[in-house]
Order: sequence, then C-alpha cells, then structure tokens
Amino acid sequence: MDEKLLESYWNLLNLGDDYLRCGRKRRHPSLRDAGFTGLKASPALRSVPARDTDPALLLKEIAQEVSSCTACRLHEGRHHAVPGEGVVHPMVLIIGEGPGAQEDASGRPFVGPAGQYLDKWMKAIGLSRSEHLFIGNVIKCRPPGNRDPLPDEAAACRPFLDRQIDILRPKAILTVGRIAMQLLLDTTDGIGRRHGKRFEYRGIPLVPTYHPSGVLRNPEYRAPVWKDLKALRSLLEELG
Ligand code: SF4
Repeated sequence: MDEKLLESYWNLLNLGDDYLRCGRKRRHPSLRDAGFTGLKASPALRSVPARDTDPALLLKEIAQEVSSCTACRLHEGRHHAVPGEGVVHPMVLIIGEGPGAQEDASGRPFVGPAGQYLDKWMKAIGLSRSEHLFIGNVIKCRPPGNRDPLPDEAAACRPFLDRQIDILRPKAILTVGRIAMQLLLDTTDGIGRRHGKRFEYRGIPLVPTYHPSGVLRNPEYRAPVWKDLKALRSLLEELG
C-alpha cells in the first residue's frame, strides 16, 4: 500500500480518537477531513482483480476447472471438455445432454448440424447466441459413442452446471432433449409428457423441449417444438 494512503488511514484514525474525546455535539469528522481521497488513489488496489464479483472471471475459472477435471471416467476419452459459452447474464440458458463428436473436437457447444438448427429455433423467437444466450450441457465431456451419461458421471459433473447457473442467473432455462430434462427435474418421465410446460430449477423458470438432433431425424416433432418455443417466448415476455 502506498505511503499517502497509509497516512490518510492514520489521519482518519486520529480524527476518530478526537471525536470520541470531544463528545457527540462536535461535527463527525469526515473522510475528507482526514485527507482521504478514496481507494482509487492506490494503483496497487486498482490492480487487484474483482475475483469474487466479476461473473465473466468466475465463469472462466469454472471453464478452466472443467478442462482439467478428472472427476469421472469420461475425461479418459475426451479430446476437449466443453464447459459452455455465451453471454454473462443471458435471457435464456440452453442446456443439452453432453458434447457430440464435433463439440468434443472443438471444445465448443452445439457446433454441428444440431447446433445450427438450434440457432434457427432461437432466431425464430428473436434470440441470438451473441446477444441473448448461454449454451451448455449437463455433462461436460463426451460419453463414448454418445451413450447416455451414467448416474455417477451425471452426479460428478452437476456441480459445474449449478455453479454456472448461479453466476449466469438467466431469465429462463430451456432444456433440450430427454436427458437434460430428466436430470434437472429429477424425473424418469419421457420428454413427451413434459415438453412445453413450465418448471423451475434453482429458482429459475425452466421449459423443456426436444433435442434439435432428434427433430432433425424426426420431422414430426417440429410442430411441438414450435409450440414449446412460443411458450418460452411468452414466458420471457411475462418476465419482462
Ligand atoms: S464429465 Fe464432468 S465430471 Fe466427468 S471428467 Fe468431464 S468435467 Fe469432470
């Protein structure tokens, strides 16, 4: 800490002593009386990063932890972990199941055909990755052969997602696909029973829908997905 700042603190402490000696009728000494011009004066303090409050920094720290995580067997076969990415306080947090082959190769979420399709869905309700969304998965490393994650893998990985949600504080969550919905809603129901309805996770409204890769394979799901997206849009409008 620089000399001037230390001197300011010292003057302030002395004025405090004077105040105690003089009684309550005297004007309370101010910081300015002490010559204290604020913490901005200290270059040393300015250079300390706001580690506890900067959400972008906290998200980056989680991404680094994910990248080096060995908490479950899925780290053994991954090329890249996929922590997720997007804007810091998104309108919608989209949560899928886990990385596929292209995500594993690139380290980025939803970059293949399903991702491009998802972008179109979002565009249809006026949302874009660059302005309104954060996109991630419940599982950060690719399960071999795109199999469903095992319960112990899901449990090991969940704290990363929960920490991300608490930092992101999105207005709403959209889960895509059965696995993400089942894990977050703690249910064995199929997606057909729950899609388009409103639920809540960690105090945030959640709407489940189908996974874009499933809809690419099964065009009959297009109509229900459009209904779900309109339900999400209505929810966002209600939330302002
Ligand atoms: S899937 Fe999650 S818990 Fe498992 S190694 Fe990857 S980051 Fe860690």
